[in-house]
Amino acid sequence: MKHVVVTIDGPAGTGKSTVARMVAQRLGYLYLDTGALYRAAALAVDGAGGDIDDNAECGRIVSETTIELKDNRVEVNGTDVTDEIRSSRVSTLSSRIAVHPSVRKVLLAVQRAFSDQQSLVVEGRDTGSVVFPDASVKIYLDASATERARRRHEEMISKGVAVSFDQVLTDVKNRDQRDISRQTAPLVVPEHAIVVDTTHLTVAGVVQKVVEVIQEKLADK
Ligand code: C5P
Repeated sequence: MKHVVVTIDGPAGTGKSTVARMVAQRLGYLYLDTGALYRAAALAVDGAGGDIDDNAECGRIVSETTIELKDNRVEVNGTDVTDEIRSSRVSTLSSRIAVHPSVRKVLLAVQRAFSDQQSLVVEGRDTGSVVFPDASVKIYLDASATERARRRHEEMISKGVAVSFDQVLTDVKNRDQRDISRQTAPLVVPEHAIVVDTTHLTVAGVVQKVVEVIQEKLADK
């Protein structure tokens, strides 16, 4: 039997990870955080002393790196990097490495292999447009840049990271710009995707809405 794939794309700070994890739990599907793969790849290149802006060098290092996602933990060559990849430094490095076609090619194969195992909810920037263009259901989460920065800022402050709101807003806008304008697999609303604006919704509200959309779509098939 072919597995169901639900894709959830959108810019940073729309709550994709939280929503995708909760939706996967509700449906009993596997949750795949593709941003974690880009973050782990960036950390691997940084750790190896590679040039993060060099396509060929990044591609070579990433293809020689073992990245594993195990029960919400992330490992790079056997080392647990779950917390390290969430720093704002790695956020920036990951969006820089994500522009490289060589890196995207390696990670494309890694992502597609997950759907061989079981039904999944996958979230990222190009999961509905490039990684799983034939996905059963495609969702695009959006929110204003100010609201997305407000959420990120709140999350960082709650983790004890001293950062100003203006800095977070600038980082969010810079990442948006790189994600939207890159040549390979830019952030777009995928064809046939349902757009959900989360600006004025709670997490529970977004999860409910997304589950309803999925159930409706699957019932139609
Ligand atoms: O979603 P998250 O913020 O963890 O993603 C980190 C970075 O990885 C993003 O800023 C984006 O540049 C890149 N990314 C991507 N394609 C994906 C997932 C993430 O380019 N499917």
